[in-house]
Amino acid sequence: MLSSSQFLSPHFKWSERQSQVLESLAQEFTLSTAQLETLTTEFVRQMHVGLTSTKSKDLAMIPTFVTGRPDGHERGSYLALDLGGTNLRVCLITLKGDRQLEAHQRAFKVSDHLQEADVTELMDFIAISIQEFISSEHISAKIVEHPSDSDTLELGFTFSFPVTQTAIDAGVLLRWTKGFHCPGAVGSDIVQLLQDALNRKKVNVHVAALVNDTVGTLLAHSYKHANTFIGAIFGTGTNGAYVESARNIKTMTTDADEMIINIEWGNFDKDKTVLPVTMHDNKLDRESINPGIHVFEKMISGMYLGEITRNVLLYLIDQRLLFEGTSSPTLNRHWGFETKFMSAIEQDNSSTLIPIAQILEQDLGIYLNTQVDREIVKFVCQLVGKRAARLSAMAVAAVVRQGLKAGTLAEHGYPLKVSANDEVQAKQNGSKVEAVGHGASTKDIIRVGIDGSVFEHYPHFEERMYEALDEILGSSAREVVALGIARDGSGVGAALAALIATKNSAGST
Ligand code: ADP
Ligand code: MG
Repeated sequence: MLSSSQFLSPHFKWSERQSQVLESLAQEFTLSTAQLETLTTEFVRQMHVGLTSTKSKDLAMIPTFVTGRPDGHERGSYLALDLGGTNLRVCLITLKGDRQLEAHQRAFKVSDHLQEADVTELMDFIAISIQEFISSEHISAKIVEHPSDSDTLELGFTFSFPVTQTAIDAGVLLRWTKGFHCPGAVGSDIVQLLQDALNRKKVNVHVAALVNDTVGTLLAHSYKHANTFIGAIFGTGTNGAYVESARNIKTMTTDADEMIINIEWGNFDKDKTVLPVTMHDNKLDRESINPGIHVFEKMISGMYLGEITRNVLLYLIDQRLLFEGTSSPTLNRHWGFETKFMSAIEQDNSSTLIPIAQILEQDLGIYLNTQVDREIVKFVCQLVGKRAARLSAMAVAAVVRQGLKAGTLAEHGYPLKVSANDEVQAKQNGSKVEAVGHGASTKDIIRVGIDGSVFEHYPHFEERMYEALDEILGSSAREVVALGIARDGSGVGAALAALIATKNSAGST
């Protein structure tokens, strides 16, 4: 069990009341090893529910129809399209084998008008943008240099809106989000809508795959690193995808041996049966646009961490334990405290914490702050940031544990704890375990590809994740589980999905 005194810097005196309140905050926000274990067990249980029923209320465990993983030998030029916000990104990815690749891309602005126009107009715009991109001389030359197997250009489509997928190249839009309202799309197959537009505009491109960004992240990391098992996002939101044995997926049938599952883990433990939410989390949830949904994501991801911290700071201000009880218009405003401020605050290791004073003044309009105030602000950021990292690691650990239990990872004989109670070790044969125990060989490392600003930029996030992984999976976890940055899921990952889809359909005809 971590004690809050670990956070306290020795050179400041807190009043008795400050110490009391901060100590109890620390208790609420600090996740013990035992709590992590309980959460992990429940996460694995909720994964099973989602794998066996389409009515799971927590983890949706969506089959993606992506039934293979790249091994880095793939070659050819593929298009990738990324529609998820105000920009449409078109990329040409040239896979060169040997885990090497080249990417060319261009962004097109999706105007406010297009975000609300009839979907035919939106799709025509996309088709024309693709045409413009590939007809640029530079790009055509690249394609000729590295042709893919078919004469039509194959495209992977990262579409970051809620979709029910029915095949690797078919998915029905459930609802628009993020400001889009194009009539004629909800309830329709989004791939067909795009293919129709490409045909209308006589663009010789075939939409081969529809991909979620977590799946793209897993595929992109797989191309670069062998043994990639999980793709995860810790950015605006959080989610993960992993490789599951087909026999464990009871919600569909497939001839393939394995399939990538989109966990939709932001919705883990929606009813808060084990998640230790605080009053500050509940306040955030109530005031959000989707109360009661994605409660787990709201404790972890970039969109929310600043807001939790803001709630805690106001709680302290209102008790006159911070800034002499004075707030500012910015700090009073919903979403007024950004997650990147926490990163900057945690980065300040100076003895006087003057950089924190600058953030408080310039970004938050708090001009009167003492060194004790700054110490408290940093302390709160550490509590919220550390909890986020430990919960993130818990999700990764649960997926690894599922892989060990389900046999997806068993052939490697990893020396990791499958269950805390009986300390069962996932040993398959003695000699391999020896080798792993002395530092796993490259081949035996379980790789996790991660995308997102929180993982990439939040100080100590990765180290805190490793600490928690060790606590949950056993002390050798960090030698066996490798967290790595995978930046281009929606480009490289989508291109790889197009390649896998094309190879599969070639194989089946
Ligand atoms: P997206 O998830 O939308 O693709 P990102 O991975 O860049 O984009 O994540 C954006 C989120 O990261 C935002 O919620 C933002 O608050 C947060 N963020 C941006 N910069 C930082 C930073 N330096 N430290 C921590 N979080 C950050
Ligand atoms: Mg992103």
